[in-house]
Amino acid sequence: MTRTLTILGATGSIGQSTLDLVARNPAQFEVIALSAHSDVAGLAKAARAVNARHAVIGDAALLADLRAALYGTSTSCAAGAQAIIEAAQMGADYTMCAIVGCAGLAPAMAAIAGGRTIALANKEALVSAGDLMLAAVKTSGATLLPVDSEHNAIFQCLQGQNLESVSRIILTASGGPFRTTPFAEMEQITPAQAVKHPNWSMGAKISVDSATMMNKGLELIEAAHLFPINPDRLEIIVHPQSVVHSMVEYVDGSVLAQLGAPDMRTPIAHTLAFPERMPAPVQRLDFAALARLDFEVPDEVRFPALRLAREALQAGGGSSAILNAANEVAVADFLSGRIAFPVIAQIVERTLISFSPASPASLEDVLSIDSEARARARESGEVVLA
Ligand code: NAD
Ligand code: MG
Repeated sequence: MTRTLTILGATGSIGQSTLDLVARNPAQFEVIALSAHSDVAGLAKAARAVNARHAVIGDAALLADLRAALYGTSTSCAAGAQAIIEAAQMGADYTMCAIVGCAGLAPAMAAIAGGRTIALANKEALVSAGDLMLAAVKTSGATLLPVDSEHNAIFQCLQGQNLESVSRIILTASGGPFRTTPFAEMEQITPAQAVKHPNWSMGAKISVDSATMMNKGLELIEAAHLFPINPDRLEIIVHPQSVVHSMVEYVDGSVLAQLGAPDMRTPIAHTLAFPERMPAPVQRLDFAALARLDFEVPDEVRFPALRLAREALQAGGGSSAILNAANEVAVADFLSGRIAFPVIAQIVERTLISFSPASPASLEDVLSIDSEARARARESGEVVLA
């Protein structure tokens, strides 16, 4: 049976992995819409490859370029942030939310309102507006499937089980490229070093988040929304091989884990085929070659982002949205060479303590906290640089 599908963020790392699986199974999927921010050539190439009905470029100034790039095809074109939201409303059976950052929140909410299957990679949306998103999922009857490898692993380990029987959820973390880098050397870390992840190939923003371990902090908050158990029972353990993607411990002492090669096509395939399975062209684990699996306690002194995320989770209200927005600003500043690596966490901490808004009650509330936090993060950056 053919399923209709939309990919928001089609030109990114997750978008391309999703398209790879779709292109290998052309009879199973019909692509409704693809979106990208500014990569016209990448978007047009993807739209041609899967014969997409509709393509949207986020940057409104690029509409003519997109039309030119798709000339001679039957793909319709649109541009601008609102057009991405409209693409999310086209009623696809399955929507992959793979835009990076809080920019993906409104499109994800639009897709959720359609009540179909939502595969969520865009963790920043859930961190900023988890309560609202899950309430919307409940209202619309949508099926929310986590794509993030840890949450997809936990989701798989929870199948057929009862959350009341869970004693711990253990998120694994690779530790990133600076797992063993001494504190004194962190000041010198360059963007090129930070985006070079030892195990995973990912977009620039999440690669920096992995390097600061803010990625694991965001994932802790993501887990708290997706798997509502007492946050004290959410643990993080560093596992440098990235083979065990996360674990669930039950009251009887059983620990279920999901393992696999570090390739996002496995969790993406899980969501594409759910509740069935489909083949994914990923490397198979060779346990004899692997020989061992290592685990170690994360270092919250060298990686303060872990502490900041846990504090934001405990504080509740708008704190997670502030944490995320400040981090997006700081990561962009680090990538453009404006600030040193350790300053990322400093900006996030300063922004977090600078204001405490009421709990957001609507999407507009979240977006207004997000933009206030961005302005404050930029101010904090100026203070730190001065
Ligand atoms: P990426 O940078 O490779 O791609 C991001 C996509 O979002 C691109 O298609 C880009 O055009 C689009 N985009 C960026 N800014 C936009 C904006 N303002 N408006 C509309 N579209 C915009 O990122 P990625 O690595 O594919 O990650 C995507 C999301 O998935 C992130 O939230 C990330 O945390 C999450 N995720 C990624 C991985 C991974 O392996 N890459 C793993 C787990 C979770
Ligand atoms: Mg992850």
